[in-house]
Amino acid sequence: MIREIEVTTRAREELVDVTAEVSRVIAESGVRSGMAFVFCPHTTAAVTINENADPDVRRDIVSWAAGTVPRKADWRHGEGNSDAHVKVVLTGPCQPIPVEAGRLALGTWQGVFLCEYDGPRARRLLVKVMAG
Ligand code: ZN
Repeated sequence: MIREIEVTTRAREELVDVTAEVSRVIAESGVRSGMAFVFCPHTTAAVTINENADPDVRRDIVSWAAGTVPRKADWRHGEGNSDAHVKVVLTGPCQPIPVEAGRLALGTWQGVFLCEYDGPRARRLLVKVMAG
């Protein structure tokens, strides 16, 4: 099965915690053991897994990305959002997550995040759950 999660972002750059929404998809799938793939079908947003306890970690990741890939540089892409495209290359469009006992097998401090690099926008994530 594949399910879609809608996410409304509120800033140009932010990490949005979608762990609860992905967990709901897993619960509804009925899969007890397998793999979930969380895929971001956008070219200026991505998906990652990182700490969801201290929100400063999210802030630090956004700050690092902004410092590493400047918004103004010798970019050619006419939309003016080349930095966002490059940040997606660094982050990646998909995360595989094991499913065990009907739940995401995340570590204690891990959460799933949509990484917005050119918001605010309406975004989607696709979640594919496979038993096995
Ligand atoms: Zn663009």
